[in-house]
Amino acid sequence: VTAVRVPEADLDAVLDAIGEAGRRLSEIGASEGAAGNISVYLGRSFDLRGRFPDEEAIELPEAVPELAGDSFLVTGSGRRLREIRDDPAANIGCVIIDEGGASATLRTSPRRRFERLTSELNSHLAVHRDRIVTTGARFHALVHAQPLYLTYLSHVEAYQDEAFLNRHLLRWQPETIVNLPDGIRVVPFCVPGSAQLQAATVEALRTRCMVLWSKHGVMSRSDTSVKRACDRIEYAETGARYEYLNLVNGERASGLSAEQIQAICSSLGIRQGIF
Ligand SMILES: [Zn+2]
Repeated sequence: VTAVRVPEADLDAVLDAIGEAGRRLSEIGASEGAAGNISVYLGRSFDLRGRFPDEEAIELPEAVPELAGDSFLVTGSGRRLREIRDDPAANIGCVIIDEGGASATLRTSPRRRFERLTSELNSHLAVHRDRIVTTGARFHALVHAQPLYLTYLSHVEAYQDEAFLNRHLLRWQPETIVNLPDGIRVVPFCVPGSAQLQAATVEALRTRCMVLWSKHGVMSRSDTSVKRACDRIEYAETGARYEYLNLVNGERASGLSAEQIQAICSSLGIRQGIF
């Protein structure tokens, strides 16, 4: 089998992209302390032994038999996303799924700075599995972050209604609908790391590229690049920030009208069902 070129075709480029995404998420106020985590499905195209020579056996939160032999990069629990770029290999673990899919080999750098992988590993793995099995993607990135304005609005009852949230957040800049044509899925609050959050996230990311975990944060996906997943968070957070500004300004602005957004979409050939 010929190795297929993936969008980010060498390991160092993917590690650098995770570092850059972590830095940007921190800059936009979406990753305080050690909040947030990033994972990337790499398939089988990469030789990981050079960067990650140490290995140990780990159990997986849930068996992923379809992904046996495949590799993932996953950020370490307790690591600060903003510091990943200083030494990506020390902050990231590489998971290679064993035959049968119930366990894995964790490969790490000798400079490893974490005990365990992210506590949201169950949601990351379940979403990767669902998307890879369904779409056959060769590359898949997932980013969880806690953007301030999006998360704040998820505490406000009106914005827990998905149609209301999308119509209000996607009205402030012409490019928002271009980057989020399917809008944002909203799921009710679930305990972090829980089976409920995992199931809701898998279902949400089947039809959307981003899910808002009410009263917690967001998860965004991309089968193109880590930065693309990160950009989507930034576009959504910018919309939420405009929305917040408007709320505290007595709602004096009305944003782009539905007709204006429809005109943008028809000019660019974008299908959307929000406006
Ligand atoms: Zn979180």
